[in-house]
Amino acid sequence: MSTHPEVQIAAGKSVDDVLTAFRGSVNQPGTIFSTEHWLVPKLDQLKRLLTDPITEDEAQALLDVLHQRHWMRDLLDWLDKRPVSWADFFTYRDNLKQEDLRKAADERERRRAAGLDPYLNFKLVPDDFHPKLSDACPDCGSSDWKPIGYGLPTEDGIEDARRGHYVLGGCVLQDAKRYCLACFNRWPTKPNMKKPTGRPEWVERKVAETRSEYAELSALADQPPSPEEPHVERAWARIDGRVSFLVSFGGKKARVTKSLQYSRLGGAPEYDANVLGICDPRDVCKMCDLAALAVVRFERTHEPEKHNLYNDWDIVQAHWRAFDRRWDGESYRRERVREKRQKLSRLLKLARSVPEKLPRVFSLRSDGNPKVYRVRFPWGVARVRSYTWQSELPDYDCRDLCRKAEDAELAGDLACAAVMLYEFPKLAGTSS
Ligand SMILES: [Zn+2]
Repeated sequence: MSTHPEVQIAAGKSVDDVLTAFRGSVNQPGTIFSTEHWLVPKLDQLKRLLTDPITEDEAQALLDVLHQRHWMRDLLDWLDKRPVSWADFFTYRDNLKQEDLRKAADERERRRAAGLDPYLNFKLVPDDFHPKLSDACPDCGSSDWKPIGYGLPTEDGIEDARRGHYVLGGCVLQDAKRYCLACFNRWPTKPNMKKPTGRPEWVERKVAETRSEYAELSALADQPPSPEEPHVERAWARIDGRVSFLVSFGGKKARVTKSLQYSRLGGAPEYDANVLGICDPRDVCKMCDLAALAVVRFERTHEPEKHNLYNDWDIVQAHWRAFDRRWDGESYRRERVREKRQKLSRLLKLARSVPEKLPRVFSLRSDGNPKVYRVRFPWGVARVRSYTWQSELPDYDCRDLCRKAEDAELAGDLACAAVMLYEFPKLAGTSS
């Protein structure tokens, strides 16, 4: 280590000197970790992309990478296109990405408006596959509900949720399909008739906990209510003994669920509150406590209404039983084979009519099924996935196509056709 990298990596220095200094400065305290195996190809790329001598902007970018403020891949990306200065590059790229996300979401809106599936453009399941759930909330009767989406959402999915097409339901897949915006009910839900499971000492501790928490709540409910305490608007009982309460704090609302899991083992009821639309966690805790207290007080004077015992769960069960009885797997399979055959013959026709427009297949990544091919068009690269399911006909799908193509749909078909001919070269030879 002779001098600081800042001295050698500066505007006006020659590319060779700068890259030598860069190579000498890695793996020092505060600089990037690197192996020769990783670094040498990157330096080759840099040598090709940097101006000679280097500019002020380039020097700053190289130092940012060296001192771990940005990634090497971002530097190479910037040098390759140089749409704006290094300082503005990240905002510029974020804006482009947001723009792309918005465009994709607009396209899904268009498909929705046309009555098509916004994500898939083929029909997988018959119309009556999904059970018919009630269109009004089974608790409050409101028709102001949204479908629930589970799992980690993609960026496109987040955009759709932001536009209000569905609500995010968390990572764990649950039974509930719909979410009421008026009373925060989710339906359908399965009645929980089971006793709690777990290690006996753990269950025992939990039973004791529920008892002491309930005793605390009862003691508080003996006191006169504080002015902040909310009031219970309505309550709904379930067949398994749970009761849901809709609690109102003036403008804000909360939903409290009373569950009896541990009561069956000698414990006390538990009250879980959900307050929505409040960001400060301290406020949420306080409101949850007040909501549970209001519910306990309410229970002393009211018998919660006994209605809505099924919450659509029986409808769902009946639907699946009936569906299983009449489901004809064989005809479903035949229908799918017919659809695939039509698609493949359309692709083959296309491939034979404009063979000069087909992109070149240049890479294949295969860890079984599906295989992922990459094809090169004059305007860029696209990925095609090839599936074969249980010795059926292959299926090609090109979803994440670069939006640089003038006609994205045609480009997708061309990419699929090219991969089909790559997998079955004999098809190209026979002329129709
Ligand atoms: Zn509701």
